[in-house]
Amino acid sequence: MYICIEGIDGAGKTTQCKLLKDWFDKNGYRAELIREPTQSPIGRLIRRILNEPSLPTDDQQKILGLLFAADRLLLKDKIKKAKNEKTIIISDRCFYSSIAYQEPEDWIREINKFAIKPDIVIILDITPEDAQERFEGLERFEEKSFLERVRRKYLRIAEEKKFPVVDANRGINIIQEDIRRIIAPYLGI
Ligand code: C5P
Ligand code: MG
Repeated sequence: MYICIEGIDGAGKTTQCKLLKDWFDKNGYRAELIREPTQSPIGRLIRRILNEPSLPTDDQQKILGLLFAADRLLLKDKIKKAKNEKTIIISDRCFYSSIAYQEPEDWIREINKFAIKPDIVIILDITPEDAQERFEGLERFEEKSFLERVRRKYLRIAEEKKFPVVDANRGINIIQEDIRRIIAPYLGI
């Protein structure tokens, strides 16, 4: 099973993914964490570019989209193998991050045709203001106006695809309880 946790910067994805893994471990399931951007040379290049914006502004989102798509391709075999071995993959971001963050959408969809679709996608929803307030400054935090657009795209995707949306402006444990409640029926826990 391939589970993806999505949401804007500072929504708490990384924390929730880790807590989810603890739950699987405790219940005797084999689970593995992955994240986008990955730790591969392409993922590291993406982080470097994000931290020192050196791309032509006009095409920045397109170029980033291509790099994210390439980085994602590196995860494909790992996800397939895990699914065959009944290992649960918990992913901090996936293809839907590119839909929400990069543009233009048609083109992003086209270059991600190979991407494996998660079995479960959960959107952690929070306003950029609340996210920034909680943010510990350890990771990148985009401009609030940009994140507002990203948030709206996530909410649109959730509506279209009927993905569950979890209110992420609450305590860590309550959010985790909601996530577990959503996933439990898929596992029979
Ligand atoms: O999830 P994480 O905080 O590690 O993401 C690193 C940065 O990459 C974030 O600032 C996020 O805004 C950016 N990002 C992006 N496009 C994606 C995924 C992440 O711009 N498809
Ligand atoms: Mg994170």
